[in-house]
Amino acid sequence: MTLHADYDPDNIFAKILRGEMPRVKVYEDETVLAFMDVFPQSKGHTLIIPKEVEARNFLDMPTDQVGAYMERVQKVARAVEKALSPDGVVVTQFNGAPAGQTVFHLHFHVIPRWSDKALSGHASGQMADIPNLEAIASKIRAELD
Ligand code: AMP
Repeated sequence: MTLHADYDPDNIFAKILRGEMPRVKVYEDETVLAFMDVFPQSKGHTLIIPKEVEARNFLDMPTDQVGAYMERVQKVARAVEKALSPDGVVVTQFNGAPAGQTVFHLHFHVIPRWSDKALSGHASGQMADIPNLEAIASKIRAELD
């Protein structure tokens, strides 16, 4: 996938937004949907995606919608931190396959870090246990304003 290409309305996150694929929801409003990453790099790995916009990556995002989106990214990151008390939090995203992007609907990753724990691989490995993800999502939801 190139950095600049047409938006594919059948990407996995577009299907999640349309309710055609399951997700473990953390937060939703008119601007974003946040849900648990099913191949988490650490406990609490959460994704925040914009709704109502066909942006493959951050460079595609209409500038006038960036502020509202990033407010939600911060809101979710704060809730993840409160819920799980990690030693650090990675907030990141990738633009284009060579940069590491594997799903082509804009998303930010919130990845809690603990000093004594290595990260799992990106978008790889075993799918997480869904009831376990539900339990973590419930803790995060409890810390959202
Ligand atoms: P990226 O590689 O930055 O595009 O990130 C895509 C992320 O989506 C990866 O961390 C994957 O583990 C995650 N992912 C892929 N499919 C799903 C899915 N169906 N539900 C939740 N997360 C997913």
